[in-house]
Amino acid sequence: MTSVITHEVFNQSTPLVDANLFTGNRALQDALRFNRPGYDAERFAALGAAAGSAAMQQHARLANTFAPQLKSHDRFGRRIDEVEFHPSYHALMAAAMQQGLHGTPWSLGPGAHVDRAAAFMLFTEAEPGILCPISMSYAVTPALRANAAIHDDWGPGLASTQYDERFVPFQNKRGLTMGMGMTEKQGGSDVRANTTRAEPDGRDDWGERYRITGHKWFFSAPMCDAFLVLARTGHESAGALSCFFLPRWRPDGTLNALRIQRLKHKLGNHANASSEVEFHGAAAWLVGDEGRGIPQILAMGAITRLDCALGTAGLMRQALSIALHHTAQRHAFGKALAEQPMMRNVLADLALESEAATALALRLARAVDASENASDASGHEKLISRVLTPIAKFWICKRGSAFGQEAMECLGGNGYVEEQGEGVMARIYREMPLNSIWEGAGNIMALDLLRALRTGPVADALVHEMAPARGAHPALDAALARVLHGLDGATEEAQARRLARDTALVLQAALLRQHSTDAVFDAFCASRLAEASDVFGALPAGCDLAAIVERARLH
Ligand SMILES: Cc1cc2nc3c(=O)[nH]c(=O)nc-3n(C[C@H](O)[C@H](O)[C@H](O)COP(=O)(O)OP(=O)(O)OC[C@H]3O[C@@H](n4cnc5c(N)ncnc54)[C@H](O)[C@@H]3O)c2cc1C
Repeated sequence: MTSVITHEVFNQSTPLVDANLFTGNRALQDALRFNRPGYDAERFAALGAAAGSAAMQQHARLANTFAPQLKSHDRFGRRIDEVEFHPSYHALMAAAMQQGLHGTPWSLGPGAHVDRAAAFMLFTEAEPGILCPISMSYAVTPALRANAAIHDDWGPGLASTQYDERFVPFQNKRGLTMGMGMTEKQGGSDVRANTTRAEPDGRDDWGERYRITGHKWFFSAPMCDAFLVLARTGHESAGALSCFFLPRWRPDGTLNALRIQRLKHKLGNHANASSEVEFHGAAAWLVGDEGRGIPQILAMGAITRLDCALGTAGLMRQALSIALHHTAQRHAFGKALAEQPMMRNVLADLALESEAATALALRLARAVDASENASDASGHEKLISRVLTPIAKFWICKRGSAFGQEAMECLGGNGYVEEQGEGVMARIYREMPLNSIWEGAGNIMALDLLRALRTGPVADALVHEMAPARGAHPALDAALARVLHGLDGATEEAQARRLARDTALVLQAALLRQHSTDAVFDAFCASRLAEASDVFGALPAGCDLAAIVERARLH
């Protein structure tokens, strides 16, 4: 049978593939140079090439398309509680660990956390789902130090750059990962509602041992080698919440009593397994003081919140790059879409948002780095890290979904199509809300900002932080005055989101002033501070749209 030629395919864009995501990204390079002057350009160029490669994109597609499967029992009826992943999941995990995105930076000295932050952002553009266990393994170290024996035994494995996918006891593994369990059915944000209980069970090399009985309603990456979990000591529901180290295998080589009930059927984040679990008298060891479980586990939460900000900044950059690539190729009404005045306004506005997110997230990473490495005699960086964590997590993640929607719209109908995982923009859009929800949703971040205001002279710290940008734009000076007024500690709870947003915006503007171009800084102040930005693509007249878009293009 002869086939009929119905039409020729033309004016469709090509996939964005094999671009160097670092050397092409001026905003990231400038932010990194500002926060980490001695960064290793060669290492980042290599990572940028790998993260944007066709091979990595294929792994991401496969890891998301062939979602993890729970194997609760073997074929003989014995419980095994294993999750099976596509080989591409393991390839991505191995690549992330080889880059030292998990526990490695804690032993590398000054600058390592900033390097890792930039690398984490780049890796997010390859695949964010596998970064859940990577992020938790990174974040666990400050909390785990409170049990020196466990930290000594597990620290090297958590810092190893070798991924070991085998489900075997920790002594036999080349590299280890960890997760955390706080959320229960009756309470997530308010973990004081936790009912999981811990009963003393003796003492051994790892300290006070307990038997944990109860459940967790969200428990991501259950194939991690161990978890920090919250449970109540004492038999009464009013008993104190403590933090426990709960390994998948007991030290004697037997499987611990953690039952994976089922895997969550999620909107996105399909490469990552998120489960519901029960503990049937599982062996666990106390980490930190009894009754101090919430602050103990929040030492971990503070770092995963940094990763939420970094991850969203990475996703924004990925969506922006795809939108820029498509609109440069696709023509409508006689011109490339990117040349149409209104589309150019949309692209420029997205570029501002993406660069501002990158700037704020990397600044936070520098504060974490400086606090950790004692290069902070005045305590300024520690205070900035405390205050900026809820601000950056709140604002960057809150902007993510609106950003994803607008970037998707730049691709028209093609943006909405999944096509067996080929539709990267649709995947980004489904991923975006997650960073805003987990690790403390938006309101919880804003409430945490109010708490952070009581931990030190925050207004002074902000004045210091803003000094290089004072007088650079009248709208910035006016906005800063308003923000300083709100930092006096008298902000009502109902106004906390407003304060978090406004503080984020002035800090973003100050950072853009210091390491971006005049075109970007002026347009940011004009569109976010002089007036409220309610829709992308409404940058006021006078903004240098062409210069902003040209800077954002992957070079
Ligand atoms: C895919 C996925 C994976 C996850 N993985 C894990 C994991 O590995 N480990 C883990 O412990 N948890 C995990 N979580 C749980 C996550 O951290 C919680 O869902 C989140 O913290 C919110 O808790 P919640 O769902 O109980 O909502 P709730 O606490 O019921 O909150 C609902 C809403 O109310 C708001 N709210 C709560 N209190 C206040 C208040 N005082 N004032 C104003 N607003 C308020 C919140 O901001 C939120 O918007 C995961 C969640 C998801 C979606």
